[in-house]
Amino acid sequence: MGLYDVIVVGGGHAGCEAALVSARLGADTLLLTFSREKIGYTSCNPSIGGVGKGQLVKEVDALGGEMGKAADASCIQFRMLNSSKGYAARSSRMQIDRELYNRYMREHVLSQKRLDVIEDEVVGVIVDDGVCGGVVTRSGGEVRAKSVVLTPGTFMNALIHIGLEHFPGGRIGEAPSMGLSDELRRYGFMVHSFKTGTPARLDGKSLDLSRMQRQDPDKDVVPFSFSTDTVVLPQRPCYMTRTNGDTHRIIRESLDRSPLYSGKIKSTGVRYCPSIEDKVVRFPDRDSHIVFIEPEGLGVDEYYPNGISTSLPVDAQELMLHSIKGLENARMIRPAYGIEYDYVDPTQLLSSLETKLVPGLFMAGQINGTTGYEEAAALGLMAGINAALKVLGRGPLVLERSQAYIGVLIDDLVTKGTKEPYRMFTSRVEYRITVREDNADERLSPVGARLGLVPAAYMDRVEARREKVEKEKERLRTAYVLPDDKLKMFLSEKGQASPECRISLYDLLKRPGVGYDDVCRVSDGEPALSYYEKVALEVDIKYRGYIDRENTRIRRFSELETVLLPPDLDYGSVQGLSNEIREKLSTIRPRSLGQASRISGVTPAAVSILMIMLKTRGMSSKKNRNGG
Ligand code: FAD
Repeated sequence: MGLYDVIVVGGGHAGCEAALVSARLGADTLLLTFSREKIGYTSCNPSIGGVGKGQLVKEVDALGGEMGKAADASCIQFRMLNSSKGYAARSSRMQIDRELYNRYMREHVLSQKRLDVIEDEVVGVIVDDGVCGGVVTRSGGEVRAKSVVLTPGTFMNALIHIGLEHFPGGRIGEAPSMGLSDELRRYGFMVHSFKTGTPARLDGKSLDLSRMQRQDPDKDVVPFSFSTDTVVLPQRPCYMTRTNGDTHRIIRESLDRSPLYSGKIKSTGVRYCPSIEDKVVRFPDRDSHIVFIEPEGLGVDEYYPNGISTSLPVDAQELMLHSIKGLENARMIRPAYGIEYDYVDPTQLLSSLETKLVPGLFMAGQINGTTGYEEAAALGLMAGINAALKVLGRGPLVLERSQAYIGVLIDDLVTKGTKEPYRMFTSRVEYRITVREDNADERLSPVGARLGLVPAAYMDRVEARREKVEKEKERLRTAYVLPDDKLKMFLSEKGQASPECRISLYDLLKRPGVGYDDVCRVSDGEPALSYYEKVALEVDIKYRGYIDRENTRIRRFSELETVLLPPDLDYGSVQGLSNEIREKLSTIRPRSLGQASRISGVTPAAVSILMIMLKTRGMSSKKNRNGG
């Protein structure tokens, strides 16, 4: 095989984004993966988005990625989570048709120009004079490339557990990736293992959905991608049921055959998405846990019982299921299982997701210690962009914490590492008033466009929306309502006093509890804005003070972020730092004073010392980190 610019290993969520974006940037790219059929396959729940994750999907979309469009094309239930809370907390979630999602991603990857796809297993990385030069495959020998992106997901050294039985497997029915972890250890990478799990899949014919609580989709579907006009598939309900005392008794009585509690699984699992046995043991006072019964797709009568992932033996799984209301006769199509897999300590990565030990080698997705499709897609996109930019001789793209959820995700991983599978939450993001799901396109599509990843038509839409919102804002400033009975009644319902004289619609909207739709109603107008336009308008008018304050905080934050530390700085030679701080700085090798200040144990005094050192040595430099 010839020389490629970029090789991407693994066709999961990280690999698909990495391969697509690399090819779209103009790099000749090869995707090596176990199975073409499984490209973009969703291993666990048939859903995309959720709290903190919807934001990542929108950002991937705004940078020219594919996940949002794939979700829109396969969406069978949309819900805006936290819709009763402020805009900063709102996150989109879509139930997807698993097969349609998989097909969409596969077709887009297979038809992408400059992207070859070959089925093979990568067993090693070629390193020439300390620099990555390609990969070694199980069947084809060596394939050379200037950059390599590793995205092997849950497959590295993976072991599946069902009760006390265990066997090698990257997912049920699929072989693991053996040997790659040892290869990485050989080059000095710190490889550890994590654990995750998935519930059984249930035959729809065997469920009594009428005994469960129905959860309908939102009336209005808001697509993930800013370029999708409408979601076309019919929307389906989900259902809710609960575990009970009997379920918990069955679980407790089976714990001696649980790989988790018999000591067979030693790796750390996902704290925020624990197995049902974990929940029963950790929260003994809770007499029930919620179970969402989610459809797997339109063409299959199969359900995913969200909330009861387990690695208990099959007979205990059956007993447990049958104790739950509506699942009394449930038939398992596939049993639940737990899986242990290897990942690489993410502090061994630069902010570009290139490894510090082997230049030209990038890592993304579950291998970075994260969990979740959305985290994987975001990391894959960034690694793919940076692998291609490196080959094209351009500087890396690094997003700031104040700019994107993706910036926070990567900065957390490479600065602090993670002791448990890392998943994204809104609470991890410091600047949530300005970094929101609804404005991801405004924040990031200019970056995507500069790189050539976002088409002009997309940018035109962003601009048209901005103009429309501005125009409507102007109209609200100059249109008034009189304090007539209608307005008085409306305001008294909101617990507010009526104004003495006419009030502009703009000032009315500023009042707490008053939304754009209300303003239109009391002024006998028709709402002229779409969901996102409305959000942009309301946020701008109602939260202007908060936004201004947050922007001031961001400016202050940026002062340290823009002061670069030389990558080869000898921290041993910096006077005044403790040995512990020197060691930490030498290990993490922060790119900026801002990142240095977030390393645990690095004190404000140490940051001042670094700042003075940069000035006295004449090293202070501002950075250009937008793929220039
Ligand atoms: P994956 O989607 O795993 O894709 C990896 C790809 O790499 C596959 O295509 C594979 O064939 C290929 N590959 C691997 N090794 C090689 C090699 N050596 N050579 C060539 N190709 C290779 N996430 C959650 O958020 N919540 C959960 O509850 C949850 N539970 C899970 C339960 C199970 C059992 C599993 C397996 C996963 C679960 N996940 C869960 C994780 C979710 O599936 C991953 O976070 C996500 O798929 C990671 O994406 P990725 O691209 O890194 O890897």
